[in-house]
Amino acid sequence: MSLSPLARALETIRSKIAAASAAYGAKTGNASPPVRLVAVSKTKPLAMVLEAHTHGQRVFGENYVQELVDKAKDPQAPADIEWHFIGHLQTNKCNALADLPRLMMVETVDSARLADALNKAVAKKPRPAPLAVMVQVNTSQEESKSGIPTGECVALAEHIVKQCPSLRLAGLMTIGDPDRHVVPNPDFEALVQCRAAVAAALGVDADTLELSMGMSGDFEHAVEMGSTNVRVGSSIFGAR
Ligand SMILES: *Cc1c(COP(=O)(O)O)cnc(C)c1O
Repeated sequence: MSLSPLARALETIRSKIAAASAAYGAKTGNASPPVRLVAVSKTKPLAMVLEAHTHGQRVFGENYVQELVDKAKDPQAPADIEWHFIGHLQTNKCNALADLPRLMMVETVDSARLADALNKAVAKKPRPAPLAVMVQVNTSQEESKSGIPTGECVALAEHIVKQCPSLRLAGLMTIGDPDRHVVPNPDFEALVQCRAAVAAALGVDADTLELSMGMSGDFEHAVEMGSTNVRVGSSIFGAR
């Protein structure tokens, strides 16, 4: 049986992630950390999510609250999907997100105000564990991008850990400037430094905090720099 283009794309990406992860392990002398592939299905129909699911993909990323709610609540959506929210989040949409039992992570917390709103929304719902969140950092300092400035990531991380008992700080996330083709990518370097600063402030090992960085164009490079969570859309599902 020949594989569909989507299934082939998934296989290719998984093997590239494995190779890049091995390279990172060899470079650092540590065991390669597990790398999670988030299949970014925004603007794509649920049918494509289901196809990826039949080929073993379980983690999916969405950018728009209403689109995520529609897909997650569709009776056809498999019960073992893990949804990551990766878009800009407004405080008034936190209740709609918190309502989704299979929401596993919100990668885009970029203010104390948003953390508080999400914490409050999640606290109202029965959940087996706190909701995993990441601090989104605007490493490229572009006005148009969401994310907290690098200098404020420690304060926000501490706020989440100390003031938001219904949230669990999982790590840090950046999008970066996709037009900056410099190796090593300065946005990824900046996120690695943010993690070191946050880990030091919290008194934990850096590798207890995840790094979400890398998209279709740069996920291999991101994993070679220590990313543990890559968000890949168009390489899996086709151009949007
Ligand atoms: C759309 C999107 C992605 C996926 O981008 P591709 O280039 O299609 O892989 C990843 N992260 C975020 C935050 C996005 O909005």
